[in-house]
Amino acid sequence: MKLFTQNNQQKKGKEKNPKFDFSKNIFGTIFVLLLLTVAYSLLSGKEDTPVEVSLSNLAQSIDAGAIKSIEVSGNKLSIIRSDDTKETALKESEAALTETLANYGLSKEKLAAVTISVKNQSGFMFWVANILPFALPVLFILFFFWMISRQVKGAGMQALSFGQTQARVTSPDDKNQRVLFKDVAGAKEAKEELKEIVDFLRNPKKFLDIGARIPKGVILTGAPGTGKTLLARAVAGEAGVPFFHLSGSEFVEMFVGVGASRVRDLFKVAKKAAPAIIFVDEIDAVGRVRGTGIGGGNDEREQTLNQILVEMDGFEPNEKVIVMAATNRPDVLDPALLRPGRFDRRVVLDLPDREDREEILKIHSRKKPFAEDVNLKVIAERTPGFSGADLHSLMNEGAILAAREDRKKVSQFDLIRAIEKVLLGPERKSYLLSKKEKEITAYHEAGHALVASVLPYADPVHKITIISRGRALGYTLKLPIEERKLQSKKEFLDDIAVSLGGYVVEEMLFGDVTTGPSNDLQVATSLARSMVTRWGMSETIGPVALEGEGGRALFGAGIDGKEYSEAVSAKIDAEVSKIMQDGFARARDVVTKYRGALDAIALALVEKETLEQDDYEKIIIANGIMPKKKEEK
Ligand code: ADP
Ligand code: ZN
Ligand code: MG
Repeated sequence: MKLFTQNNQQKKGKEKNPKFDFSKNIFGTIFVLLLLTVAYSLLSGKEDTPVEVSLSNLAQSIDAGAIKSIEVSGNKLSIIRSDDTKETALKESEAALTETLANYGLSKEKLAAVTISVKNQSGFMFWVANILPFALPVLFILFFFWMISRQVKGAGMQALSFGQTQARVTSPDDKNQRVLFKDVAGAKEAKEELKEIVDFLRNPKKFLDIGARIPKGVILTGAPGTGKTLLARAVAGEAGVPFFHLSGSEFVEMFVGVGASRVRDLFKVAKKAAPAIIFVDEIDAVGRVRGTGIGGGNDEREQTLNQILVEMDGFEPNEKVIVMAATNRPDVLDPALLRPGRFDRRVVLDLPDREDREEILKIHSRKKPFAEDVNLKVIAERTPGFSGADLHSLMNEGAILAAREDRKKVSQFDLIRAIEKVLLGPERKSYLLSKKEKEITAYHEAGHALVASVLPYADPVHKITIISRGRALGYTLKLPIEERKLQSKKEFLDDIAVSLGGYVVEEMLFGDVTTGPSNDLQVATSLARSMVTRWGMSETIGPVALEGEGGRALFGAGIDGKEYSEAVSAKIDAEVSKIMQDGFARARDVVTKYRGALDAIALALVEKETLEQDDYEKIIIANGIMPKKKEEK
C-alpha cells in the first residue's frame, strides 16, 4: 500500500547569501549614523553654556577688577571672573585682545591685573571643533556611497570572471582522488572500450604515426548511479592525465553568451594541459535537441551546444584532448552531438548483474569490519535492479545500523535491513495503525502476495510486512528469480494483476476502497499504457511504437508531443482500460478461489506484522498453493 499522504517533507529553507544582503547594509549604515548624531548632540549639550558678554561689558568688568583670567583661543574668549563664574565673549579676529581692550579705554595697570593666556588653536582641536559638525554628514554620505560602490564593483568583478571556465581539475598526481579501473566493479565491456582511450592518452605517438584517427568524444550512457562519473574518472586515473570535470548545467547561467565563452575557455585550458580529458557530466542539460522550443526556446543553451560542436570540430588530430560526456537521457540528445567526429563512441553502462553487484559490494566494504556471518553473495542476490550508487549507500546504511547499536562489526542482518531501507526509506515504527487500518492493510498486502504466488509469471514473494516505511503503509517485496533484460507480455499482464490484488481485496471484503491502492493503480496503469504505446503488446493497436522512452513523444513531434490522431488516442485509452479490467478480473478470480489462503496470510500478518519468505510459504502450502522454485523457470 503506497501513497500515504502525510506531508512530512521537510522544507529546505533557502539560505540567504550574506554577502549580497543589500538592505541590511543600508539600514545598518543609517542606524549607525543616527546613533552617532544622537551621541554627538548629547555630548555637546552637556557643557553648561556660560553667559556670553559683549566686549564693552568685559572692559567694564576689568576696570572694576572683577576678572581673574581670560583665555584666548582664536577669536573666542573664555573668561573667569573673580567669583569663579565663567563667561565667554567674542573679539574681532584681526586685532590683538590687549589692543582691543585698550581701545575701550582700559589702562595698562588694570589690564596687567588680568592673566591673559593665548591658546594656539590652529591644531587638531580647532579643526575638530570647527569642521567636524559640517564634515561629519558629508563623511557619512561618502562612506555610504563607498559601501554601495564596493558592492557593485564586487558584482562587476564576478561578471568579469563569469566567462571563465568553472571546471574542477583533478591532476594525475593527486593520489587521494585518483580512481582506477580496479575501483570500478563490473562494466567489463565499457572498460574494454575505454582501455583504447587510455592507451591513446598514454602513448599518442603510436597511434598518430600509423595515421589512426583518434576518437574525439566518448559518451557514457546509463541509468543514474551506474558509475558513469566514476568510470570517466577512472579513465583519467589510468591514463595519468589531468581531468577537467564540469557539469552541463554549469555552462548555462544568468548571462547570455557566458555558456559559449566558458566552453571556449575550457577547451583552451585543456589544450594547454594536453594530453587531457574534458568531462562534461549530465550533458543533456546543454545537449538537448535544438529548436524544439521546449523549456522556453533556450537560445543560450543552443549557443553553448554549438560552441561545443565547433570546438570539437576544430580539434587537430594531434591535439590529444579527449572529450568525455555522461548522460542518463541519451534519447534527448541532439543528433549532431552523436555524429562521427564528435561523440562517436558510445559506451553503455547497464545496471549491474548479480556477479557485478557482489563485486561492487566488495569494493565498498573495503574499510568496513564484517562479522563472520556476512555473505555478500546473498545480499547481491537480494538486490536486483540496484545500481552501483544504491549498493554503495546500502553498505553505508548497514554500517550506520551497526554503529547505532554500538557494535564494532557489521553483520549480515544489518545489511539485509539496509536493503529495505535503501529500497523504501526508513521504517516508521512509531506510526501506529489503528486496529481497523491494520486489518485493511494486512488484507491488502495479502492480496498482492496471493496473486503473485498463484499467477505463473509473477515474481515470487520474498517478504510481506505491514510496518510502514517511507510513504508506504505496508508492502510486499517480490524479487525476480533471475536477472532479466527482457520482459514478456505475459509477465507484464501478471504484474498488473498483482498490482491490482490489493485493490480487489479491499473492494471485495470491505465493500469499500481506501486511498491506499492509488499508487498501485498508477503503477499498473502506466505499465498498461506502455504495453500499448511503446512495446506493441496490444492486438488492436498492433506493432507500432507511438511514444519514445519515458512516455515522451518521439523526436520531431511538436510541443504537445502527439504523433497520432484523436481516433488512435481513443483506441489507446480503450485498450489500456481493457488490460486493466482483465487484470482486475484475474486478480479477483485468484482471490475468490483461494479465499482460505488469503484469510490465513492476513491473520498471520496482523499477528506478526512481518512475514519472511519461509513463514509465508508454509502458510500457502498449507492452503494448497505450491511456492515458486528457482528451478521452475
Ligand atoms: P552516475 O554518474 O552514473 O550517476 P556515479 O559514477 O556518480 O554514477 O556513481 C555513484 C557512486 O556509486 C560512485 O561514487 C560509486 O561509489 C558507486 N558505484 C557506481 N557504480 C559502481 C561500480 N561499478 N563499482 C563501484 N562503485 C560504483
Ligand atoms: Zn498495494
Ligand atoms: Mg554522474
